[in-house]
Amino acid sequence: MYIDKTSNILNIKAIIAMKDRSLLMIPGPVEFEPAVLQALGAPTTSHVAPDFIEIFGSSISLMRGVFLCPSGQPFIIAGSGTLAMDMVAANLIEQGDNVLVVSTGYFGDRYEEIAKRYGAEVTCLHAAVGGIVTTDVIEAELKKKSYKFLTFTHVDTSTAVKVNPKPIGELGKKYGVLTVLDGVCSVGGEEMRQEEWGIDVAFTASQKAIGVPPGLALIVASPKAIDTWKKRKTNVTNFYSDWKNWLPIMEAYENRKPSYFATPAVNHVCALFVGLNSIIKEGVEARITRHHKFGKAFQKALSAIGLKQVPLKQEYAASTMSAPYYPEGIAASGLLPKIKQAGVIVAGGLHQQIKDKYFRIGHMGAVKESDLYATIGAVESGLHACGYSYDMGAGTIALHEELNRKE
Ligand code: PMP
Repeated sequence: MYIDKTSNILNIKAIIAMKDRSLLMIPGPVEFEPAVLQALGAPTTSHVAPDFIEIFGSSISLMRGVFLCPSGQPFIIAGSGTLAMDMVAANLIEQGDNVLVVSTGYFGDRYEEIAKRYGAEVTCLHAAVGGIVTTDVIEAELKKKSYKFLTFTHVDTSTAVKVNPKPIGELGKKYGVLTVLDGVCSVGGEEMRQEEWGIDVAFTASQKAIGVPPGLALIVASPKAIDTWKKRKTNVTNFYSDWKNWLPIMEAYENRKPSYFATPAVNHVCALFVGLNSIIKEGVEARITRHHKFGKAFQKALSAIGLKQVPLKQEYAASTMSAPYYPEGIAASGLLPKIKQAGVIVAGGLHQQIKDKYFRIGHMGAVKESDLYATIGAVESGLHACGYSYDMGAGTIALHEELNRKE
């Protein structure tokens, strides 16, 4: 019985057939370039083979270029974005440290929980749904006590709200606080100038704007963050995450020497190498511009068909994803399967307070104009099938106008 069920679930042919018909437009994982997938599927080599040492070493260096942090220390670790959050907290927080969490949704709230797990005294500033916490409010809190660590989510995937990291980096310098940017839904898509903006740690996961299947936690730590970690009074309490285990590995591979602490995800690292090269080839600036243009155009298209969106102001809206509310009388259970029938997979709501009222669309990484047209078409077709009355085709027209607008 059990085996039957498993083999059914693992019916790869069915999965591939399903995939042939559907475009994956959730806010991660996203559609990946064929070259990246080929690298993932290539024969696995030894983690100490000369070719792999070259690939791993180069990938570590390429991370600095993507994070715009020439003096940072990259870490490439098998795991997901949550591991990146956990690893940064494990290494930089000690029992009793004051930690400030600026939360714009589900993932900010998750950091509150993680910081508490490592014994921090946590204060969390919560934004209203769709809003941000202003710089003034953050500064007022920093004046109240001495904080060691301030974390915020660049783009919270539960709200599609984007926070401007630059003033937060400035506050970090002014008040001597380590600034930690959760860039899981931003790095590789949104403007993120880690070094110039004084962000001490930025992290992401492979499956979003970086464009590599889920499986890697990617972190870049500033010299100040590494120094803070070196000056810890107590041992890091998480064995796998301890930078004492990983820093020598990153340094060795970057110097093209084999080293071992725990087996690296060889195939994933090869795929990451292809993904990072593709970002550098496109150009980080050009990639940010493309995401910005696509995000704005897609959000205009959603507005043109009458869909209100979660971010309270356009200036808070992310480029990497969108979060439209369902129109009155239309529910997730009705609309999402119809969008799927039209060939596009989008995601349901995640933020606890509005979970059943909105849905989410990712447009990041290797996304192309044609994917945006397919997606807005599928959303329109789904809404039409649900009996929503609107100006048919308005979304496609708005998308076309915005994509072709001369700046
Ligand atoms: N932070 C943000 C902003 C995210 O979007 C996510 C994943 N959606 C995470 C953290 C956690 O990443 P993962 O699911 O890869 O553990």
